[in-house]
Amino acid sequence: MLKFAMFDTKPYDEPAFRRYAEEAGVGIKFYETRLNADTVSLAEGYDGVIPFVNDVVDAPVIEALHRHGARLIAMRCAGYNNVDLEAARGRIAVYRVPAYSPHAVAEHAMAMLLTIVRRTHKAYIRTRDFNFSLNGMVGFDLYGKTIGIVGTGRIGRALIDICRGFGMKVIAYDARNASDASIEYVSLEELFARSDVISLHCPLTDETDHMIDEHAIRRMKRGVVLINTSRGALIDAEALLADIKDRHIGAACLDVYEEESDVFFEDFSGHILDDDVLARLISMPNVLITSHQAFLTEEALDGIARTTVQNISDYFSGRFNDNEVVGGAEQRAPALTR
Ligand code: NAD
Repeated sequence: MLKFAMFDTKPYDEPAFRRYAEEAGVGIKFYETRLNADTVSLAEGYDGVIPFVNDVVDAPVIEALHRHGARLIAMRCAGYNNVDLEAARGRIAVYRVPAYSPHAVAEHAMAMLLTIVRRTHKAYIRTRDFNFSLNGMVGFDLYGKTIGIVGTGRIGRALIDICRGFGMKVIAYDARNASDASIEYVSLEELFARSDVISLHCPLTDETDHMIDEHAIRRMKRGVVLINTSRGALIDAEALLADIKDRHIGAACLDVYEEESDVFFEDFSGHILDDDVLARLISMPNVLITSHQAFLTEEALDGIARTTVQNISDYFSGRFNDNEVVGGAEQRAPALTR
């Protein structure tokens, strides 16, 4: 039986993983702790690990995994910016779950947009306190507004469909793939200049790191609503905060945050938050923060577990699988090599 160590496990992760792993004959040890240099020894004797977005899978951790005999890093998420791919290449294969429910993330982006624009989060608190005043609750119609989608992959496209249903005008920018005639592609510059709402759906790479910095924000319309459900470091959080204070940014909906690995997914209520930028952002009336929650639907959790276990089974039976990010030490038959 294959044995895998899963890190950063939350109670909502386990049921689907248990079900699919049992069917496939894969044994999983669920660890609550995150994977990092201090905890990697827990993976000793396992065939591989199942990390999540904020686990540390850098060169020293990969080196230790390799020493401990791991052959596969089966990421249970789409992004792999926390994995040192060059350290893994040819030693330990890295697989990911490229798509589980793009609708989950796109619907969350729209939920955040509607919340911030129509103040439903404030209305919920007011009416529970028998405060039925509408002062300060004026929103604006999404109908007829222009949304700029950065990255028209699976999630970006799902959001485009939703926005069209709301009667919004959609423009888009994609650095790699801008050939779909049903989408009005524009330059990033034009997208910044024309959009009332901007939503980010591209991966975090060297190229996109801080793509939204003070210079980018200055090229956006005054009052723009910024949505980030992709990766925190796409936005320079200090620049964002400065331009919220400056009233240039109308509102920000953030499901991800640059320094989220220190706080997101954990309960810090009753503690003093060390991160001043995050604390100040949270204090803003026009900022809505959710804690990397966009993926969290039953459908998505099921899809993540199913594909991760399938990746493990495929890899160890030498079957071709498009979810491979880098190959490991295993020799494949030439016909199966990508
Ligand atoms: P995808 O690979 O289907 O699409 C990404 C798109 O971004 C592609 O079309 C690609 O060409 C484009 N792109 C690449 N570099 C770009 C650049 N420099 N500028 C503009 N576009 C660029 O990915 P997806 O499934 O749509 O996911 C998008 C991102 O959402 C992921 O990278 C991940 O970081 C994030 N995500 C977040 C959550 C969450 O819970 N918040 C869940 C899943 C995914």
